[in-house]
Amino acid sequence: MTQASTQANFPRGVDLLRDPLLNKGTAFTERERDQLGLRGLLPPPVRTMEQQALRVMANVRSKPDDLERYLYMIGLQDRNETLFYRALVDNLEELMPVVYTPTVGKGCQLFGRVFRRPRGLYISADDRGQIKQVMRNWPRQEVSVILPTDGERILGLGDLGASGMGIPIGKLALYTACAGIHPGKCMPVMIDVGTENEEFLNDPLYLGLKRHRLKGDEYDALIDEFMQACKELWPDALVQFEDFANHNAFRLLEKYRHTHCTFNDDIQGTGSVALAGLLSSLEVTGRRITDERVLFLGAGEAATGIGEMIAATMVQAGLSHEEAQRRCWFVDSKGLVVASRTDLTHHKKPWAHQAEFVKTLSEAIEVIKPTALIGASGMTGAFTPEILQAMARINDRPVIFALSNPTSKAECTAEAAYVHTEGRCLFASGSPFPSVHYQGRTFSPGQGNNVYIFPGVGLGAIAVRAKEITDGMFLTAARVVAELVTDEERATGNLYPSLKRIREVSGRIAVEVAKQAFREGLAQEREPASVEALVQSLRYEPDYVEYV
Ligand code: NAD
Repeated sequence: MTQASTQANFPRGVDLLRDPLLNKGTAFTERERDQLGLRGLLPPPVRTMEQQALRVMANVRSKPDDLERYLYMIGLQDRNETLFYRALVDNLEELMPVVYTPTVGKGCQLFGRVFRRPRGLYISADDRGQIKQVMRNWPRQEVSVILPTDGERILGLGDLGASGMGIPIGKLALYTACAGIHPGKCMPVMIDVGTENEEFLNDPLYLGLKRHRLKGDEYDALIDEFMQACKELWPDALVQFEDFANHNAFRLLEKYRHTHCTFNDDIQGTGSVALAGLLSSLEVTGRRITDERVLFLGAGEAATGIGEMIAATMVQAGLSHEEAQRRCWFVDSKGLVVASRTDLTHHKKPWAHQAEFVKTLSEAIEVIKPTALIGASGMTGAFTPEILQAMARINDRPVIFALSNPTSKAECTAEAAYVHTEGRCLFASGSPFPSVHYQGRTFSPGQGNNVYIFPGVGLGAIAVRAKEITDGMFLTAARVVAELVTDEERATGNLYPSLKRIREVSGRIAVEVAKQAFREGLAQEREPASVEALVQSLRYEPDYVEYV
């Protein structure tokens, strides 16, 4: 029972029904209907949340396609967030691909057409000089997670400009569903700096600035003003950069990682979840992390982020930084990343080792003889049967991760990986694959989904008001994920815990990340007797409370 309704500004009547965080729809009790001016504004029968949730799932399942399911769920989120989260939490495996990848990508592409109600905060290049005032319009005082994108590299879909707003909204829904961060404390942000997407620039329905992207010093000044405003208005909030293009993502991370509580999920979250898969594989192969030689296809945010995490873990295991880096090799669109190349961007240079240049992945495999092959290139089918057979020839138990999303972009299918390595590989993918039956065995490989990592890291960081988010926290998160995989899960070929256990996983990560923040002296909270209790006290459960 809560006395919330005794607060002077507690809404009544239609205003209450229109507040998605407070609305309960047909679940308002008779007493609430009488005392909060609702009588007559709702159909008379009072329903339970269970009955409402049944209706929601029946409606979702009756829709003809995922886009319709997405639109239905977004509509529900705008009407009744508690019910939205109840349905999402209880049906996470079914609904995560609806409210987030891959369906959210379609929702973004059609954003200008399917837009109904605004959600989140829109800051544009035209707001220069007054971003703080714009942010003050945010209707809630407490903000724990701010999630900005500039829409330049949305999923694998490229520059979607302001239509990328679906991403921060969807991703924050996962922070709430998986870790229990209160939805009212999450702020999705679109920083609209224009777009290079000609289709959108010519589309009368596009809901963004019709101009080419702000660049250089002007862009940096805008982001700087935004980051300053975040710090001044909500100094303890986590700022999670999402789907910024390479040329900004690495720079902005380096620029703000020691001044703000911030991280880039595309780089660090991906690094952590792939590391978790690799650590988990060691339980099966019996190898040590320092035995691994990892070859990446792709050298972008995901691949180099993973490289950083693997190298850092090897350093913890006793290798020097240089030795650890030399165990990670990259092939990009031009060929093997080596020191003699003159065309390498800044973020690739640490991985440019002294070695002869070779052009193809198969040549690189023969030269490097990797134990693990990790694809984050967006190159469909790049792990050909010959490549997979080569990995199986070189290794007793090769690790093969085809991380490119969506499924259609994966470097190989799960089936190809098992068939061409005689069922000996340890496989994970970015998008889910169905189980594979091969030579009397059934493999149910897991998905190296960042959702295993970011919600828990976020909750841990905000629980202790971490000043910074460090690689050490991401390494901790990876270890927790790997430790939580059961023998039964590994026996089916899964290197990750079942997604059904994501709330447990996120909670454990949050506790360990919070402890890590205390160890690193980065927590602003005083260390409590029980970090577990502190984290638990912050977790939102999507249940109705009685207002009167
Ligand atoms: P990015 O644009 O930063 O990097 C892509 C890289 O691929 C670039 O280095 C590019 O040079 C390289 N590349 C392009 N064509 C190539 C070719 N023919 N051969 C070799 N390399 C080539 O993108 P990103 O953020 O690093 O994402 C890459 C992929 O990883 C995407 O498909 C994304 O969906 C996936 N991803 C998966 C996860 C996950 O599974 N958890 C997380 C993040 C990203």
